[in-house]
Amino acid sequence: MLSYQHAYHAGNFADVHKHLVLFAVVDHLLRKESSVTYIDTHAGRGRYPLDAEETARLGEYHDGAERLWKTRERLAEDPLLRDWLEGLAAAQSQRNPKALDHYPGSPWWLAQRLREQDALRLFELHPGEHDHLSRQQLPDRVRHVHGDGLSGLIDALPVATPRLCVLVDPSYERKAEYGDVADTLLKAMRKARHGVMLVWYPLLPAGRHETLLEGLKAGGLRKIWRSELRVASPQRERGMYGSGMLVINPPWGLDRRLEDAMARLMPLLGDDSHYRGDWWVPE
Ligand code: SAM
Repeated sequence: MLSYQHAYHAGNFADVHKHLVLFAVVDHLLRKESSVTYIDTHAGRGRYPLDAEETARLGEYHDGAERLWKTRERLAEDPLLRDWLEGLAAAQSQRNPKALDHYPGSPWWLAQRLREQDALRLFELHPGEHDHLSRQQLPDRVRHVHGDGLSGLIDALPVATPRLCVLVDPSYERKAEYGDVADTLLKAMRKARHGVMLVWYPLLPAGRHETLLEGLKAGGLRKIWRSELRVASPQRERGMYGSGMLVINPPWGLDRRLEDAMARLMPLLGDDSHYRGDWWVPE
């Protein structure tokens, strides 16, 4: 029974972190001409109007995307933030291009940078969320599948293009999902050794993400880079206190670009904010 709806959280600090890492990875992939297949296993709706009832109710974007938007001129001194903010600007309605009225989800960030030679496959299991997704104005080449993204990923491999980039961004409604994601990634990496795979996880006081991290290490995967953003202390926070992202086979130079961008973001995210990027499992 799926009840999570990303619209309640769209544009929060975790989305900003996740989509900045995704954006930086795609940036590196676009430096070469050879084609890329992108697979987004948990797509969500695509693009979120910030005045929708769900999104306005919690207003989490006020502490995330909106803070960047308000200081975008200053943040643009960093090249990654400048380009990301241009992407965010392109997702706004044309009625008032100066206002932040939408937040783009992962399908949109990926579709925005899709070239003729690339492919994008989106999976979404929730019927209502898939319905929203199928109404998005995405390029015709984008395929969206109403179904399970984890088994869908395995079935889709190997892909026809020389390069592959996968985003796994579950809602972790079930505890078992942390283990399921690790098992799926281990299988996927056996079928696509050179794929760049990104997986997002929440930092929660219960520490369930350890199951995912330890599972990947125990499975023998190498070259796993970890990016974690904390905005509160785990002791004081009952809910999500941070956002984590693993990148398997990260492009060279990704760590430096993100560190520079995050150093600029930290002051916007509060006194308790802290960023670390390190190898969870080195080469
Ligand atoms: N990736 C999106 C983004 O960055 O904008 C957000 C995705 S949201 C965190 C997780 C989504 O996964 C929800 O829309 C949920 O309905 C969907 N979902 C849950 N289980 C799934 C599964 N097994 N396969 C595909 N989608 C699933």
